[in-house]
Amino acid sequence: MKQNIDEYLEDCSTQKGFQYQIRCESCGKIWKSKLSLFSQACITPSTEGKRIIYQTLYQREKAEALSLAAKEAKEVFSRCPICGHLVCDNCFMICEEIEMCRDCAARLNEAGTPVGM
Ligand SMILES: [Zn+2]
Ligand SMILES: [Zn+2]
Repeated sequence: MKQNIDEYLEDCSTQKGFQYQIRCESCGKIWKSKLSLFSQACITPSTEGKRIIYQTLYQREKAEALSLAAKEAKEVFSRCPICGHLVCDNCFMICEEIEMCRDCAARLNEAGTPVGM
């Protein structure tokens, strides 16, 4: 099982900007983080030196975007304490004693309200 929400984030960044996505392990819905644009996206490096600088900036901004996306994702996704799946708010239920994913609630015959309602 993946431990950290970062490990669930799929990279869909381009040369223009950074974006990550996660698929809910219950309903399969894809959530995308806010697109953050690369600060040098419209600039073509004029020299080899500049090219290296832009590449370094790109890697740095990408790492920043990843930690922002992880923070954003934590507000939308929860880990089910029973099966360990990472699910979206629509699939995460508040049941009587404990919160759990929709699949576990159905399996255990627990009634609950989705967090995302
Ligand atoms: Zn879901
Ligand atoms: Zn579950």
